[in-house]
Amino acid sequence: MQMIKEDCIFCKIAQKQIPSAIIYEDDNYLAFLDRNPMHPGHTLLIPKEHTDYIFDLNDEKLSELFIISKKVSQILKKATNCEKVGIAVEGFLVRHVHVHLVPLNNGDSLDPCLQKPAEQSELDSVYEKIIKSKEK
Ligand SMILES: [Zn+2]
Repeated sequence: MQMIKEDCIFCKIAQKQIPSAIIYEDDNYLAFLDRNPMHPGHTLLIPKEHTDYIFDLNDEKLSELFIISKKVSQILKKATNCEKVGIAVEGFLVRHVHVHLVPLNNGDSLDPCLQKPAEQSELDSVYEKIIKSKEK
């Protein structure tokens, strides 16, 4: 039984109570498109179990989170043809561990100030691109 926190939006996404554009999922992790991307393809990877602070994870879970981050970055890189996938963790807005994985080109920065709501059509088109590229 996984630890779930009432009123936590990422727990609700992990439990599929709130729909999201899922690009990776296994028993313990879920990656989905951020609706307020810094750059197209901006993805959030979360453990399904609720933990607030990333460095409260035990070593095994922390390693796992980074290994899955790599997996998701490979999916994003292939789909978007970006130069690199940037990684960032802050964790104040939603207090449930989440790793930002952001396709970057030409020295794009990981700046939270760049985050703004994306049009649904924009999200749909990125999502479609990722799903198609996963099938290849
Ligand atoms: Zn949570």
